[in-house]
Amino acid sequence: MTERAGQVLVGTVMGDSLLESGCEFCGACIDVCPVGALTETAYKWERPARVEQSVCAECPVGCTMTYEVNHWERVVRAVPELNAPSNMGQACFKGKFGFEYVNDKRRIRKPLVRRDGELQEASWDEAIAAAAEGLAQRKGSAFALMANPRNTNEELYAAQKFARVAMGSNAVDVASNDRPGIVEGLQDTFGYFAGTMTTWELADSAAVMVVSANLTEEQNVVGVPIKRAVRAGTQQLIVIDSREVELTRYASLWLRPYPGTDPVLLGGLLRCIVDSGLADMEFVNERAEGWDELVACLAPFTLEAVAAETGVPAEQIEQAARIYAGSGPAALLFGGDSSIGGTRRTLSRMVAALAVATGNVGKHGAGVLPLYQGANAQGGFDMGTWAASLPGHHLLDEADARERFGALWGVPVPDERNPGNRSLFARAREGGIKAMVMLGDHVHYEDGTLGDVMGALDALEFLVATSAFPSEITERAHVVFPAEVWAEKTGTYTNIERRVQPLRKVAKNKRIDSRSDLEVLCAVAGAMGAQGFSWNGPAQALDEIAQVVPEYAGISWERLLRERLDIVTTPSDEPQPTQVMYTGNVLTGLQWPVGVSDDGELFVDRFRHGKARLQPVAWHSRPEVDPQFPLMLAHGRVLLEPGRKPNVTVVGKRNRIEREERFVLNPADAAAARLGEGDAASVTTADGAERRGVVVLSDAVPAGVVSLTTLFGELAAEVDSSDRPDPMNHIARLNAAPARIAPV
Ligand code: SF4
Ligand code: SF4
Repeated sequence: MTERAGQVLVGTVMGDSLLESGCEFCGACIDVCPVGALTETAYKWERPARVEQSVCAECPVGCTMTYEVNHWERVVRAVPELNAPSNMGQACFKGKFGFEYVNDKRRIRKPLVRRDGELQEASWDEAIAAAAEGLAQRKGSAFALMANPRNTNEELYAAQKFARVAMGSNAVDVASNDRPGIVEGLQDTFGYFAGTMTTWELADSAAVMVVSANLTEEQNVVGVPIKRAVRAGTQQLIVIDSREVELTRYASLWLRPYPGTDPVLLGGLLRCIVDSGLADMEFVNERAEGWDELVACLAPFTLEAVAAETGVPAEQIEQAARIYAGSGPAALLFGGDSSIGGTRRTLSRMVAALAVATGNVGKHGAGVLPLYQGANAQGGFDMGTWAASLPGHHLLDEADARERFGALWGVPVPDERNPGNRSLFARAREGGIKAMVMLGDHVHYEDGTLGDVMGALDALEFLVATSAFPSEITERAHVVFPAEVWAEKTGTYTNIERRVQPLRKVAKNKRIDSRSDLEVLCAVAGAMGAQGFSWNGPAQALDEIAQVVPEYAGISWERLLRERLDIVTTPSDEPQPTQVMYTGNVLTGLQWPVGVSDDGELFVDRFRHGKARLQPVAWHSRPEVDPQFPLMLAHGRVLLEPGRKPNVTVVGKRNRIEREERFVLNPADAAAARLGEGDAASVTTADGAERRGVVVLSDAVPAGVVSLTTLFGELAAEVDSSDRPDPMNHIARLNAAPARIAPV
């Protein structure tokens, strides 16, 4: 509230546009407004016919939301559930405003089958028969399936089973799984492809280290307990990132390594902890094996060598080691955004080793969280929906696990190992894959993360797609099934803290003849004569999962509906925020393994295999620099840059931010490029994109890096003006990119 000339106004401090005010468009001000003065623009006058509780499908935090649905089965509002253990009443711009695609009129309404080169409407039976016939001719390693992180656990389980059992192929993956290395090192050490702690215990961590991750945009609510604890003065935050991201404003210490050198930097921290006597040797001796071998691997990680390789001053490395190892319970969150290819597995091994070395695992406020993308990415790891593993965190290389699943499913499990989803599309481009099933759409199909995906699809003989909307994928498909979106499905998602949560049917657009991917996969498998796909719905599929995935033992649909908090609200004559009015029966989900610890911690007494298996770690030197692009562009985004007021212009009915870009360079690089402070310059990245701005010199940026920070308001305006039905699903990640700078 601001008071101006005797009038009380609701607004930003100086009456600025929200785009320039540091607003992150979380919508919390709307949710707490008791009188409706603040409300969503869309559906402003809509009254709900009913409300339904489900889970946000935009990121792995898995916020529990209450959705308002109107008489026409349109979802008109999303309100984060005040007492849900996953989000405690919080949400972000994606979850609060990103559901609109459910109501979009551009949905695919009927199955389509390609006849005489044209996609034509068909009945479900015709489409299923066409898919079964086309796929039956291309079984084995000529087949691949790409699932989606918005798929439920039941769909992901069915997807990998379809590939392995119905098609005899191990080429199955999830579109978001472009960096499995960040969980592989955890599985190597602890036994699971998963983090060890919960989101909200981060509020009780004495120290948090966030490595190369853009929490505010990608796992937003995870940042909330961290910011609160930092503001309260109970937590020290270390950010390791070459980009400037929102959390760097909260950091006690911001380390800016050369992009891709994070594993070396963590190795330097570990060596520093060992050399300074900060390691918790009682914990190490009791709970881990492989310590001596690990320490031997750290020989090259001297402070001087690590500082030279990463560009981070030695004293900052020492300071970070002291904070992480010596403050009390410490958490380590990592995304590997700037890491390169195979170095991510080393990164996650380093993360696990740091946690074990300091005793920061298995106790409240301590642990590790891998920051992957995708609402149900964890479900993909749990269900074995990728080539490296089988359901239940078993490696595909384990012959006894392959035998066990072969016996359960009635067919031998293929053992061909596909090195990842990027290589899968490369194989398709080379003709090694002839047929694919693509479940849904994803930003990685268009942003280059997985290479030339459309080129790969063009090279296929046969493509089956499930999709809610027409896309570049459906244009190329031979059979298209109209897919239900998350709000129309029943099933489960597993969030970043291993919480298996019920996803409930929120709305159903009766004019669209859509089905879930689970129904499609089962119908096609059945038409092909494959056994084991006759579940009568997601609840029965979940029962099979609970039988074959030991971590899900004890989880059933009925139990998930019973696991709830009954919140008693006091009646009041005063106006109440919608959040307060809606909280009641809060479905809490169940963390796997069920019943092992009270507060959701993994490994309180023992690791999966008893002791933690510390892994050898290697030194990864910087990749060779392409002389055409000698710098790395570290593009970050923040909510606000104090002291730099942007220009806000109005285009149509929308505000837009305009401001001069600043390229921050180490003076040595600026001199090499014949640039000085304030010079106009252009930065061109290897993908051909060009930006213009002015040069700012700073020793804080390591040599070889050009740092660029843009405003979140620019992204918000871009998403708001997008004409895509589902713009939140198309926000590209801020990766470091090879670049060159030149005067203009
Ligand atoms: S940050 Fe959230 S609560 Fe604050 S003004 Fe923006 S939308 Fe409202
Ligand atoms: S933090 Fe993630 S799960 Fe929560 S509202 Fe945002 S996108 Fe949805």
